[in-house]
Amino acid sequence: MDKQTEYVLRSMEERDIRFVRLWFTDVLGFLKSVAIAPAELEGAFEEGIGFDGSAIEGFARIYESDMVAHPDPATFQILPWRESDSGGGTARMFCDIRLPDGSPSYADPRYVLKRALKKAADRGFTVYTHPEVEFFLLQKENRPNGEPIPIDSSGYFDHVVSSTGSDFRRQAISMLEQMGISVEFSHHETAPGQQEIDLRYADALSMADNLMTFRVVVKEVAEQAGIRASFMPKPFSEYAGSGMHTHMSLFTGDTNAFYDAGEDYRLSKTAEQFIAGVLRHAEEITAVTNQWVNSYKRLAFTGGEAPSYVCWGRNNRSALIRVPLYKPNKGSSARFELRSIDSAANPYLAYALIINAGLAGIEGEYELPEEAEDDVWNLTERERQALDIRPLPRNLDEAIRAMENSELAVDTLGEHVHEFFLRNKRAEFDDYRAQVTPMELSRYLPLL
Ligand code: GLN
Ligand code: MG
Ligand code: MG
Ligand code: MG
Repeated sequence: MDKQTEYVLRSMEERDIRFVRLWFTDVLGFLKSVAIAPAELEGAFEEGIGFDGSAIEGFARIYESDMVAHPDPATFQILPWRESDSGGGTARMFCDIRLPDGSPSYADPRYVLKRALKKAADRGFTVYTHPEVEFFLLQKENRPNGEPIPIDSSGYFDHVVSSTGSDFRRQAISMLEQMGISVEFSHHETAPGQQEIDLRYADALSMADNLMTFRVVVKEVAEQAGIRASFMPKPFSEYAGSGMHTHMSLFTGDTNAFYDAGEDYRLSKTAEQFIAGVLRHAEEITAVTNQWVNSYKRLAFTGGEAPSYVCWGRNNRSALIRVPLYKPNKGSSARFELRSIDSAANPYLAYALIINAGLAGIEGEYELPEEAEDDVWNLTERERQALDIRPLPRNLDEAIRAMENSELAVDTLGEHVHEFFLRNKRAEFDDYRAQVTPMELSRYLPLL
């Protein structure tokens, strides 16, 4: 038995844990959970816990549905909202999913990410990410027309005296910290009811796990406060949506491989090639970074600081990739920020694709295109074409088409996930396409 497993078993007794939840994530990014009794835990570490994979979205072909969840002891945490004074808490661990023969499941998003990280590690790189998660706090009840009602009418960085929002953030952050997830910043975002919480950087696998935990914590704290939290990318037509800007850097040991004091913007060749890779493959990975019909409403909203075009810039908030200006003595913070990805993406799959797109840039020694210095939303179509600035997919259908023919996507996701994902998303777009919307009724009925 290794040290981590021993630690978990010891903590179980010391902390009087009565239930252990085994967590994993389906292909669309929904958290799955099975609770086991403490007596089952040793067995779970040794043999895993079997379940019917065909009942999980995207997991199994029906004729090989048996799957086994193996808890990862490094992810053991006690759920703070399940602790009671009388003792008897609940803990959780993330699982790796395997097939009955012990091989990793081709459908497990955590494994998809681990494969990409292995590729980075083979080149000597550790990948660090730092997400800025935006989301809405809403009343429980909707308006009669189905529109949600935000909990406040504040805006960007507003300080509101004893507001539900700031109480909420304080509570959510303290729960996250109790679960070993460090928070760097938090503030009210531009739209009414909109919040942002930025997590301190961590390696990409821990961060993907952290994001899954984050969503549960935020929903849990909202529930306790009698309100509702939503990661829907664009719940309001008139306000900006919720993005999940993601900062990324590669390290070799303790050294930031993206930093080069002698170079322009202090970006190393490695950073330039990596960014060039993400730009070149941007369309192919958008169906995953922005996976819902609704995601594209956010990307289409001008003035909301969500990107619509493929380009990069220094501190340019209209660009898909922004390179923040860092302080001269902080080479370790050299990084880029991807601004398309939203808070409703599957973090494992999205990170895997971003990483492999970047690594393709390093492998192929891609040239970083010219920086976009203008506000690209305000250029004309012709000006953008002259600058070679392509649009991001304008809807889920365009994104699906770009992913269909993407070797990078098949290689990264594996054939099974690639195929399932496309099938699922085509069905979603077809449902959407067949809808007659309120906008059409109000615009066309009086006219036609
Ligand atoms: N909410 C904006 C988005 O959709 C981002 C706003 C910001 O953080 N500057 O990406
Ligand atoms: Mg921010
Ligand atoms: Mg923000
Ligand atoms: Mg940002």
